[in-house]
Amino acid sequence: MEFKRHHPYRLDEASRNRHAEVHLTAENFIYPLFVREGIHEKLPVENFAEVYHHTPESLLREVEKAISQGINKILLFGIPDEHKKSEYAEYAYDEQNIVSRSIVTLKKHFPELMVFTDVCLCSYTSHGHCGIIENESINNDKTIEVLGQVAVCHAAAGADFVAPSAMMDGQVWAIHKALHSNGYDKTRILAYAAKYASAFYGPFRTAALSTPAFGDRKSYQLDYRTIRQGISEIESDIAEGADWIMIKPAHTYLDMILRARQLFPQIPLVGYHVSGEYMMLHLLAEKGIADALSVLWETHYAIKRAGADFIISYASTILAKQLLKYEGVQ
Ligand SMILES: [Zn+2]
Repeated sequence: MEFKRHHPYRLDEASRNRHAEVHLTAENFIYPLFVREGIHEKLPVENFAEVYHHTPESLLREVEKAISQGINKILLFGIPDEHKKSEYAEYAYDEQNIVSRSIVTLKKHFPELMVFTDVCLCSYTSHGHCGIIENESINNDKTIEVLGQVAVCHAAAGADFVAPSAMMDGQVWAIHKALHSNGYDKTRILAYAAKYASAFYGPFRTAALSTPAFGDRKSYQLDYRTIRQGISEIESDIAEGADWIMIKPAHTYLDMILRARQLFPQIPLVGYHVSGEYMMLHLLAEKGIADALSVLWETHYAIKRAGADFIISYASTILAKQLLKYEGVQ
């Protein structure tokens, strides 16, 4: 009987490396970071391994470390003082807010660093929802106007990319319009195009101090039983002016990454390996059931293999450090 021998491709490590088709480098990572007002030293976030609330100073040190490992992209989340939160989230577009001040400092120290900023209202509203609430429901059209103001505020401070995550209809359109009419047409938009209402966001909400005071976000984030709505959201965001698109979460939505890659080959694609997905792997390792680095690598390669160009990952520095050690050979 004639048969094909597959084993020669993977007999030893050198063969496996030679035949690898998917590669990850530090440049594929976007490192999410939290900067918080009113703290005097960096604080670990509960149930979120290796993730901290940074002071502006500790943020600088963390970014310096990441850059030394080859990482050149960060996604910045701001956490304001509790008393600056309000019903209409005015502090989100105050040019003296924690995000704007941090962008200015980061760009001064690291001009080559690519700074992405989260554009949402949930850390700035007193009720913790992503938009303006009227009569106990989101007013979409008022919210997107405010998101436009937030994006302009971040662009003015020097952000390279604004990343609207509120999942409001027309948010990319409103931000694109606001950026262009204020002369910030070089600031690009990373759209959270297909963001599903996921139970895997738990640790992030503790980190961003943005758990909604009532209700949930299922009326504006995608239902995980839908495919077509996700595709339709991506189409709208591209039509409205998105430069890059994102699928969130990534690990549990690999099919959506693959679909987006095939349907929209022209646009850079980002997968967000979210907090619960990250902690799931961490806890597996902590229990001694799996090796932490092995499951992290396998998961990140799966996201890249599905079609993502970039991965927003809390494990960015953990993995980049190892890449450095092995000179990029996995
Ligand atoms: Zn939000």
